[in-house]
Amino acid sequence: MGYKNTEDSKYKFINPYNFVSVNWNKTNRKTIEDHLQQDRISGFFDCELKTVTPLAIPYERTDENGHGVYSFLRNPKDNMPMIPGSSLRGCIRTVYETVSDSCLVTADVGGQFTKRASMGEAGKPGLLIREKNGWKLYEAERFLIIIDDKGYREFRRPEFSAAKRITRKELETYEYGQKVYFCRGNMYKKNNYEIGTVVKSFSRDKNVENKEEGYLYIGEVPLAKDIKTNKHFESIFKRKEGDTALNVEITKKDIEGLKTIARMYNDSGINRNKMEGAREWYKGVEEKLSRDEEGTVVPLWFKRDDYTLSLASIGRIVYKKTMDDFVDKKRPCKKRNSLCKACALFGMSKDESIGSRVRITDAKMQDPGYKGEEVTLKELGSPRTSYIPFYATINGNPYTFISSYDEKGVRLRGRKFYWHNTQERAYEAERSLPEKERKTERNATMELVEKNKIFKFKVYFDEISRTQYEELKWALTLGDNRIDSNLCYKIGHGKPIGLGSAKIVIVKESIRSLNPYEIKKNDEIQVGNPFGIDKDKDELLTILDVRSTEGKLVSYPFIVNKGEGKENDTASHKWFSDNWDIRPRKEKLEQGLLFPDKAKDKDNLLNAKIFISDVQANDRREILKSQNREKTEYNKGEIYEGEVIGYNNSGKFAQVRLSGGGRASFYDDKHEWDRCKVRVKYLGKKDNYDKWERV
Ligand SMILES: [Zn+2]
Repeated sequence: MGYKNTEDSKYKFINPYNFVSVNWNKTNRKTIEDHLQQDRISGFFDCELKTVTPLAIPYERTDENGHGVYSFLRNPKDNMPMIPGSSLRGCIRTVYETVSDSCLVTADVGGQFTKRASMGEAGKPGLLIREKNGWKLYEAERFLIIIDDKGYREFRRPEFSAAKRITRKELETYEYGQKVYFCRGNMYKKNNYEIGTVVKSFSRDKNVENKEEGYLYIGEVPLAKDIKTNKHFESIFKRKEGDTALNVEITKKDIEGLKTIARMYNDSGINRNKMEGAREWYKGVEEKLSRDEEGTVVPLWFKRDDYTLSLASIGRIVYKKTMDDFVDKKRPCKKRNSLCKACALFGMSKDESIGSRVRITDAKMQDPGYKGEEVTLKELGSPRTSYIPFYATINGNPYTFISSYDEKGVRLRGRKFYWHNTQERAYEAERSLPEKERKTERNATMELVEKNKIFKFKVYFDEISRTQYEELKWALTLGDNRIDSNLCYKIGHGKPIGLGSAKIVIVKESIRSLNPYEIKKNDEIQVGNPFGIDKDKDELLTILDVRSTEGKLVSYPFIVNKGEGKENDTASHKWFSDNWDIRPRKEKLEQGLLFPDKAKDKDNLLNAKIFISDVQANDRREILKSQNREKTEYNKGEIYEGEVIGYNNSGKFAQVRLSGGGRASFYDDKHEWDRCKVRVKYLGKKDNYDKWERV
């Protein structure tokens, strides 16, 4: 690993998001009746939302050479710009959840963390065999099959003279893990190092020559349809003669982990090495593991020391710790008789469900002729989100570097929130760039509602306790019911680049505890401090305060992959530790080492304080959801329409509710487009999964 930083500290920056600590050790849960013990009140708030920075709620997309251009969402009836109630609700619930120490309702329970890792010296070929009483792991011997499409020079060596050569195309007729019979040939040595025994011949059936039994291992094939590669070997894994199963329990978690990995390899959204139209990697593995049938064999790699399983010797591995382990006592509520505050007020639906007592209408701007400015935005992309320090701490100490989720004492950092960024036009793509570089597939042009515009909406509440009522008022206003307050929400698209800062206030409240309505307006409305928050020390309020980042550059770090420089191996760690810590009020914000994000020429770039690191693009953290699929028939090639209803945690997959029933999910690196309408094409089933693409 090499890191390099230059000395000029002219540029300082703040990472666009930070985390609010979570008390992982407890969640106070009560029955719904206990939550509602006091007198129950109903009514509604008339609310106003003022945009503090421009706002994007992308709706209809038109394309300009792959560059998306989006209009602002409008109410179909009166054509007024609007913010969906569901978006507001999501933001408000998150804040309420945070301050009330509630469960992590959005946590992807069951989700697994993976990373790409080298098995290194410890990697051994193995065979996972489903026996009567479960999956067993056997050590295997590896034999090399020569893949020779274009007369590779190396294969002229004597040890290959008698060996069978096979083209990639021929190999395609075999399946991953298929049982084959073979005859071993010579040892292939390079620089006196034994690489492996070459296969002299092999066939599907046993014959006079091919007597040894093994299983075909076909590794990663990063290719399109016309198979040409620099990869010269595939393998046959043979169970070691006379060996019994290794003394290790293969758990359900291990199997689920392998399935997750197989799925990820075949998702070109995640696996950038897998090109469109390329063959399935590790074909059928997921299905074999799901079928769970006695006699099934899956060739794989494992680590000798801790039996971590992987499909490749340098491949994706699953951490042993899952989201469940991390979320621990903050797991989402499931039962009516044990509810946290947020679930009691906003509802939940798990094993049992409970309705929401709060309903939030769409927020509408009161200007029917409004047409916002179309702005080409910066890319949203963040660097290397797998950087564990951003998501985890160890033994509560943010200054210790963490290399694995499985390390002892590792905790997730908390709830993620974005800093405000009120710098003028911080969100805009560099204007001096030529059009072609400015408008790409990775960014978008969007119609924005400018700052200082007012949206109106209502928040209805039904039979809530006095406490809940006070808390709801606090959550809506962040404890400050003035329209020019510094405590603001972040709403809509483009949070990391400075869009969507907005202030919500209650302008009127109508309460029906007794008849008739009791109405209060503006100054008569009191917002207390029901959560007992110390405004000057609270982490959440520090992030939600627009003053916290005033005059600072809010940006992702600029990390370039140069692979040069060894001067300072701890530089990167230092960078993270300086930026991890969120302290009450601005003390820490000055720190951080930066680069000018506008620097385009190399000289200018190197004059700023940057890190050059050799982090690999593949080293990304992903969480995959166990998929809930509705049974609906689709026709291959046909196009369906639906509404985006959500995204997975990593923001890579959009879920769409189809208007004709059923759901589709497809890769989409643009997120936070809830309720936007999309058209998707059904590509058919692959490995038991419905494949879709956006059209
Ligand atoms: Zn809950």
